Amino acid sequence: MKRIVFCDFDGTITQAETFVAMLREFTPVLSERLLPEIYAKRLTLRDGVRKFIQSIPSARYGDIIEFTRSQPIRPGLLELLDFLESREIPFVVISGGLMGMVESVLNPLRHRIYAIHAMEVDTREQFLQVHSAYESETEIVAKAQIMAKYNADQSIAIGDSITDLNLALAAEVVFARPPLTRYLEERNKAFIPWSDFFEVQDYLRDHVLGGSFEQSLRTH
Ligand SMILES: [Mg+2]
Repeated sequence: MKRIVFCDFDGTITQAETFVAMLREFTPVLSERLLPEIYAKRLTLRDGVRKFIQSIPSARYGDIIEFTRSQPIRPGLLELLDFLESREIPFVVISGGLMGMVESVLNPLRHRIYAIHAMEVDTREQFLQVHSAYESETEIVAKAQIMAKYNADQSIAIGDSITDLNLALAAEVVFARPPLTRYLEERNKAFIPWSDFFEVQDYLRDHVLGGSFEQSLRTH
């Protein structure tokens, strides 16, 4: 069976929401105006994020990377990577944030991660430009599309927010933190609550890789 773990970055691997924090820091006026519009769904994530990013001068890109580098990682990630490696299960990071931000945090672990998908940044113009190979109507990084490309028999999703919802709905096994938990409850999608990567590892070892996952979901 081809199993793959698909993991969100912001608020999942990092303890804090680094992308929104970055927007507030680097585009304070615009983010005060546009963030409520995005949360109220009057503006798509795709159009909102593009407006934010393209308002930042390319010369500041280095500062953005620096801003992210010291972000604390949720405990147990290294141990989870060890565990998955021993079971030959790829770990794929899918982020709606900037590739440079994700890479600056994950750099020491980069060789342990099968792939990282995030927004690509172009710094050749006066202002930052962003693009991704998987853009949809509403998202610059359409996470569920990326997951589908891998054709896994069992997709294991780990996430924390509404931007992980489509990914979670399409995955066989879902580890969710609030507020993603609420959106999944509304849609009657089963999930495993978690607070650090040690819990993810324990659950995978005890319930998923042993083959008793279906049974445990029924009794959950
Ligand atoms: Mg997140």
